Amino acid sequence: MDWILNMEAGKELDSLVHKVLYGYDMNIRHVHVCPNCGWECNDLETSSRCQACWGNGERVTMDDSEEMYNFHPSTDMNTAFKLANLEGIAVIPQSSDKGFRWYTCDLESVHYRGGEIALHKYKDTGISCDSAAEAICKCYLQVKMNR
Ligand SMILES: [Zn+2]
Repeated sequence: MDWILNMEAGKELDSLVHKVLYGYDMNIRHVHVCPNCGWECNDLETSSRCQACWGNGERVTMDDSEEMYNFHPSTDMNTAFKLANLEGIAVIPQSSDKGFRWYTCDLESVHYRGGEIALHKYKDTGISCDSAAEAICKCYLQVKMNR
């Protein structure tokens, strides 16, 4: 499962998590977005201006077409924590020789020894990342894809 560990936070990781979680591909839209109000449209055939802002008398030029999607677990903590709750993933702050990181693992591999948290490898789900959201996504994929 090293290929999962090597993925970077972003579209690829988000779409893989989406596929595993919902069972179908994430909907990626190719749209122009208004930089002023966020209105989207598929093409600029009729006008390069934002039609929503036009209604308020503002002439705003739409941005170039870009990929948009609404599921960002690898960068959005709210979405990531929902995933962690759903699957029973522990999120633990960690200091190592690489500096401060986030460690995620299956909750079942976390045990308390006195005031200390003791971890032992369980289903190879222990992962360290710079961001908690990324670590949760990778741990989630390992847990789900190892079964
Ligand atoms: Zn607008």
